[in-house]
Amino acid sequence: MEKVTDYFGSMVFDERVMKAVLSEKVYKSLKRTIDRGTPLDISVANAVAEAMKEWAIGKGATHYTHWFQPETGLTAEKHDSFISPAPDGRVIMEFSGKELIKGEPDASSFPSGGLRATFEARGYTAWDPTSYAFIKDGTLYIPTAFCSYTGEALDKKVPLLRSMDALNRQALRILKLFGNDTVKCVKTSVGPEQEYFLIPQELYAQRKDLIMTGRTLYGAMPPKGQEMEDHYFGAIKTKVKEYMADLDKELWKLGILAKTKHNEVAPAQHELAPIYSTTNIAADQNQLTMEVMQKIAQRHGLVCLLHEKPFAGVNGSGKHNNWSISTDTGVNLLSPGETPYENAQFLLFLAAVIKAVDDYQDLLRLSVATAGNDHRLGANEAPPAVISMFLGDELTAVLEAIENDTPYNGGEKEKMQLGVDVLPKFSKDSTDRNRTSPFAFTGNKFEFRMLGSSNSISCANIHLNAAVAESLKQFADVLEKADDFKTALHQLIKNTIKEHKRIIFNGNGYDDTWIAEAEKRGLLNLRTTADAMPRLCDEKNVRMLTSHGVFTEAEIYSRRDIMLENYTKSVNIEAITMIDMARKEIIPAVSRFAGDVAKAVSAKTAVANVACKYEKKLVTELSDLIDKMDEASSDLEKAVADLKVIPESVEASAFVRDSLLPKMEVLRSFADKAETMTSEEYWPFPTYDKLLFGVE
Ligand code: ADP
Ligand code: MG
Repeated sequence: MEKVTDYFGSMVFDERVMKAVLSEKVYKSLKRTIDRGTPLDISVANAVAEAMKEWAIGKGATHYTHWFQPETGLTAEKHDSFISPAPDGRVIMEFSGKELIKGEPDASSFPSGGLRATFEARGYTAWDPTSYAFIKDGTLYIPTAFCSYTGEALDKKVPLLRSMDALNRQALRILKLFGNDTVKCVKTSVGPEQEYFLIPQELYAQRKDLIMTGRTLYGAMPPKGQEMEDHYFGAIKTKVKEYMADLDKELWKLGILAKTKHNEVAPAQHELAPIYSTTNIAADQNQLTMEVMQKIAQRHGLVCLLHEKPFAGVNGSGKHNNWSISTDTGVNLLSPGETPYENAQFLLFLAAVIKAVDDYQDLLRLSVATAGNDHRLGANEAPPAVISMFLGDELTAVLEAIENDTPYNGGEKEKMQLGVDVLPKFSKDSTDRNRTSPFAFTGNKFEFRMLGSSNSISCANIHLNAAVAESLKQFADVLEKADDFKTALHQLIKNTIKEHKRIIFNGNGYDDTWIAEAEKRGLLNLRTTADAMPRLCDEKNVRMLTSHGVFTEAEIYSRRDIMLENYTKSVNIEAITMIDMARKEIIPAVSRFAGDVAKAVSAKTAVANVACKYEKKLVTELSDLIDKMDEASSDLEKAVADLKVIPESVEASAFVRDSLLPKMEVLRSFADKAETMTSEEYWPFPTYDKLLFGVE
């Protein structure tokens, strides 16, 4: 048996490898670039490239690729081989520092939202040395950022790195105020919990909707859904177990710390969580994890569905973004400390997050907005589309005590004095009970639960980091000017709680009364992508994001357009697929069945005096449903045609929300009704029960 410790990271050009294959001078220089972002000398780059190539060839690689994350949310790669012709007809394997550092993919077909005209289609990719290179399928993957020639970000990595930078700058200002000069760098970390469905490959292949859109566009609920709640953490089926074991192994080879796996709420639904890491690495690794999950599934005759809502009426899939801020000296700034002093610092960072989430509810909401995730947010199993924060009773009581200058500990103590009193210890249990909150404090980190399972985690973290950087900036501006730091700090935290406590909600987020209460509190409820995304360009958001250098104004507008176009395109494809399935599969099948029933009725009435009441009713109702499906398809077809001529992205997305999606619902309702009345033998594709309970 191979030992995990032997093959873990075996496909990664990590520090162990760097140390082993680079000269000490080159290693040190590279390490400085990784840790502190100092520019890399070309001679160092050449040495690294040479060593990387030799290492990769030794592991069977023949190609390399600059791997990047365009704004589609997927990853992109263009493979070049290492070969280079030698004069005598042989080839040699070459890879230079220049090729390592910079690539020039023909980028004309990646969305740029108008940032780059097609005649100047070329963008360039730049190596991100903070994220390790790795080998997959015989190719050396080099994580890169993707920019236009004028320096505008065309991907999700560049703004993510910028947002981490912004947070770092502001957090350092705060730490300095607390007298901390030893910290050189503050970074955010993320542990993304990834949910997914596994279904049999041969059933998947029979459904156009799954193939084209990743979700079922039709399907009546099976007799047994998740009511029994016997799947959650239940025994894992053999086939799934084999898949998970294989997946773990592949991920471990790639240096991904896959840690937890279990069944989820819905049948056929599962979860995988890695151990957390620095945010940009977590983002790269989560993209890679999603790819590997899908690839390994094929090996096992399965398909891994990453869509947020593959099955209507069944629990959807999310991705919990566990997020914290820590220093290079190993202190988690979101962890209540041991001393009063550390506690005061913790409370300030906590206040910064509270303020950030309240001030930028819109950015957080739109950072997770996609057509797929819209089906999930606000449905009965996911956090609502309203952003609120869960802090737990204990911490809320502490904040109330600070706000009102009252004792916080059952009246035994004097009023809470920052920098003097010790906070009570929060046990993990008391902070982690609420599973319905979109943004929950879980003891030493926040869990942002609104991300969809297929989302890149970059977007959510870009906006979260930026918003918190802005709070910290405002705090530092005040505190740096204060004569008496302690008093100013106390007042600042107190004011922040007063102004932003409306965002704190410890109750059940799935409850309808909460939505009404949230409205009373003036919280935003942006139900769909069409409602949320245009707000990216609101003046306050543009001002904040540009002031921290996270985006330029042009990038913001282009991103809004790209995200809205994504939304519009996805739903448009769904609509066309629905029409196609209705006309070519469902209507013919129902008609055939109704025809056969009708034939049976005439045959029966010819020989016997029977009423055939049920059969006649069936024929009538099915014929009626066929007409309705036809009508609804035509209606939807017309809407699809109307959508085509709307040029502008905001208007088009509103049309999708108000016209396309409701019409799709109508068409589906007739088809799902027909499904419940049609013989299984006639139904043209596998039904929900088979899809959900088909894996052994
Ligand atoms: P659960 O949410 O299921 O109770 P955990 O809280 O143990 O599970 O962890 C969920 C995810 O949070 C894991 O990916 C874990 O590595 C990550 N995590 C734990 N501590 C931190 C932290 N300080 N910062 C960021 N992520 C963290
Ligand atoms: Mg969790």
